[in-house]
Amino acid sequence: METVLTTHFANEQYRHADTYLQFGGYEALRKALAGPRERIVDEVKKANLRGRGGAGFPAGVKWGFLPKDLSRPRVLVINADEGEPGTFKDRQIMGKAPHLLLEGIAIASYAMSIHLSYIYIRGEFIREARIVEEAVAEAYARGFFGKNILGSGFDLEVSVHRGAGAYICGEETSLINSLEGKRGWPRIKPPFPASVGAFGLPTIVNNVETIADVPWIVTHGGEKFAALGVEKNGGTRLIGVSGPVNRPGVYELPAGVLLREIIYTHAGGLKDGRQLKAVIPGGSSTPVLRPDEIDVTYDIESMAKIGTMAGSGGVIVIPEGTCMVRALHVLMNFYAHESCGQCTPCREGTGWLSKIVGRIENGQGREGDLELVLDVCDNMMGRTICPLADAAVMPAQSFLWKFRDEFEYHIKVQKCPFGNKF
Ligand code: SF4
Repeated sequence: METVLTTHFANEQYRHADTYLQFGGYEALRKALAGPRERIVDEVKKANLRGRGGAGFPAGVKWGFLPKDLSRPRVLVINADEGEPGTFKDRQIMGKAPHLLLEGIAIASYAMSIHLSYIYIRGEFIREARIVEEAVAEAYARGFFGKNILGSGFDLEVSVHRGAGAYICGEETSLINSLEGKRGWPRIKPPFPASVGAFGLPTIVNNVETIADVPWIVTHGGEKFAALGVEKNGGTRLIGVSGPVNRPGVYELPAGVLLREIIYTHAGGLKDGRQLKAVIPGGSSTPVLRPDEIDVTYDIESMAKIGTMAGSGGVIVIPEGTCMVRALHVLMNFYAHESCGQCTPCREGTGWLSKIVGRIENGQGREGDLELVLDVCDNMMGRTICPLADAAVMPAQSFLWKFRDEFEYHIKVQKCPFGNKF
């Protein structure tokens, strides 16, 4: 199976520039700099490269949102604030192949006439931040960053910025505020970052994996990348599988892989012969699936057709015997804790969801609580500055719709059918 990103992950030296160069590293940059900028954008569009951070927006189209006027400097910000529960793939790229990301940054910056780039790394990624900082220093030392890169006349400065560990800073406008040294609060859009972003400058925010795919696209061509995936979803994806499976980990697979195959073939199925009860398919905010819904290809459109998302590529496997009320309570606590508090529906709503689901779990649920949860969800969805409220609503609604009998049992019988103690 063709791989784009993980080919040399097993080589511990691959994170160093010398080894990366031995395997053809920075040749794609050399090729890109020798040609017109527009060709790179065209290849990325042909590649059907969709953003890998969660929303899945076409990368080439996003790049096209920058104003044509080049009189104002523009900025590329790499979103390395990977914080969605169940997602742990960008940290693999940064830890094992940071120069893939850095080469992608140089190529993308050249394509967009950008001369300033920031890598915003999640605060908890201490090891990865150190590795990326070392790689950036190596790239400067070898002339891949800085002035007159490889004699092309193109200049690029790259800086690593450590976040302080807030989930909300993975949202692009919040990330920009944090980068500017402000409180990590999402901004009202419009204006969109492509017009008014970091430091008031036109800004493109791209995910780590998205940009790390760019060197391969330049080397092999957009059409070949597109052919690795399915229609409208080019290339491969890094998919993280967690939960009680035999081989949890990150797998690079074509976008057209079946969700069942991810769990049972690549991750080796559930441990100790346990049965599957549910799957959260694309990070904790994506609607949950039942076992009879996993014969679906893991591309954005197919997942949307069954009412869920491939999201950030984090597949969370839930085995039989798990209390779905407790599982939802854990998720609701997370979103209540991470709400930034700017919008009333999110600030209050996430707190209420946590409180109501918590009392159901604790055997103190009341008649009408399930309707109340769904009513709170209706008053949150789509009514806030950023998607964090929606991120809490989607699991809440789907858990209730698909596992309602467990919630009803907790309320009626006042105890957990799986023996969890209150
Ligand atoms: Fe903050 Fe929530 Fe509003 Fe997003 S939706 S801006 S996290 S309060």
